[in-house]
Amino acid sequence: MKGARETILEAVGETPLVKLQRVSAGLAADVFVKLEFLQPGGSMKDRLAIHLVDEAVERGKLERGGTIVEATSGNTGAGLAMVAAVRGYKSVFAMPDKVSHEKIAALRAWGAKVVLCPSSVEPEDPRSHFSLARRIADETPGAVLANQYFSQANARAYYKSLGPELFAQTGGEIDALVAGIGTGGTLTGAGRYLKEHKPACQLVAVDPVGSVYYDKFRSGRDTRAFAYKVEGIGEEFHPPSMDPKLIDEMVRVDDRECFSMARDLVRLEGLFCGGSSGAAVAGAIKYARARDRKENIVVVLPDGAAKYLSTVFNDEWMRDNGLLGGDGTVRDLLESKGGRAMITARPDDTVRHVVQTMKQHGISQLPVVGDNDRLFGIIAEVDVLRHLVTGEGHLDGTIEHLVESDYASVTPETRVDLLQGVLAEAKIALVTEGRRLVGLITKIDLIEYLSRHT
Ligand code: PMP
Repeated sequence: MKGARETILEAVGETPLVKLQRVSAGLAADVFVKLEFLQPGGSMKDRLAIHLVDEAVERGKLERGGTIVEATSGNTGAGLAMVAAVRGYKSVFAMPDKVSHEKIAALRAWGAKVVLCPSSVEPEDPRSHFSLARRIADETPGAVLANQYFSQANARAYYKSLGPELFAQTGGEIDALVAGIGTGGTLTGAGRYLKEHKPACQLVAVDPVGSVYYDKFRSGRDTRAFAYKVEGIGEEFHPPSMDPKLIDEMVRVDDRECFSMARDLVRLEGLFCGGSSGAAVAGAIKYARARDRKENIVVVLPDGAAKYLSTVFNDEWMRDNGLLGGDGTVRDLLESKGGRAMITARPDDTVRHVVQTMKQHGISQLPVVGDNDRLFGIIAEVDVLRHLVTGEGHLDGTIEHLVESDYASVTPETRVDLLQGVLAEAKIALVTEGRRLVGLITKIDLIEYLSRHT
């Protein structure tokens, strides 16, 4: 029939672009949101799913009746499960166990098999969802691993689809594209297309507190990842699916900012979107505020609120996770420490000088900062000891090569309740704004604060 699509897959793409009215009030910039949560499979990953399956078929890796396998936090799985349902493939997904029940149930509804894996293990750990997906693909005859984290096909999907769509929809009048980064495929692919057609267009990545991307972008350091609640964005490693060289700016947001904005987008703008959409808009608003100029900022809203009704949009869950009310923020903790000056080292300090400082103040690690409080990393007693004991170095050399990354990085807005997990893993939490170190928190600081506030 005229006007009908052949299958649901022909309905993927061409999502609306809508101007924000209320949550962006007071900004010099106009902020527009790309409603990818209106895709038939529920997210922008529908674009990726069709592309990955087409490429696998073209390359002879997927044959009729074959099995599609993937490591996914839900949305890529949904897209692939939908494609599998329409085209008659089987699908199996390995997922981290922090994903919402709704996402797991949706994949099963499409006929997929779902295997849950612990969220808190390293990607290389055989128990991780990455390792398990690879194993299932290797051991299942006729199976192909979609491999969104490791394949350049990920970015290519958005280069071919989302990039041109945004360029056409904005008539080229797009000054910045803002997106949360998980695999980084959306921003890399759509961004690459936009840069080729409008080189001045800025690509802005939004990363959650707890993920490793932000520190790598700011200081080149591999810091410690720690647990956070927002789904689909942030990582604990640097996947080849993202091209960090393309990114002009990175903004960091914490769970509370993500979820509070997601709730505002639903209540105040009528946009029924999920937590990572809140993250992207919260990041875009920080970016717009810092630039304070008339420009057009486009933000990708990846998926919808329905999957998060039991979490982000449930007050009880929010309270249980310290995201409504709670113990205060890192800023409160720093203020409660009083105006005590931070003791820091510089990369060109000598080992002797640093040892003296540690001894004088009775501390076992120091942040290392350069001009304008720019953070380089930390230096720890144990590293100095190893350096001297192995005879590699002497006291009059500089500490530059001893600077290391065993710290977690947080913002002044980070919730205090998150710090317990952070400090169980890392030596120290450093508080940064942009590249600048603005505070540090040790285990004893946290104990003192909690003993006064509970
Ligand atoms: N938001 C959600 C809800 C997602 O599932 C994803 C994909 N992991 C993203 C954002 C980030 O997209 P990308 O992987 O392309 O960076």
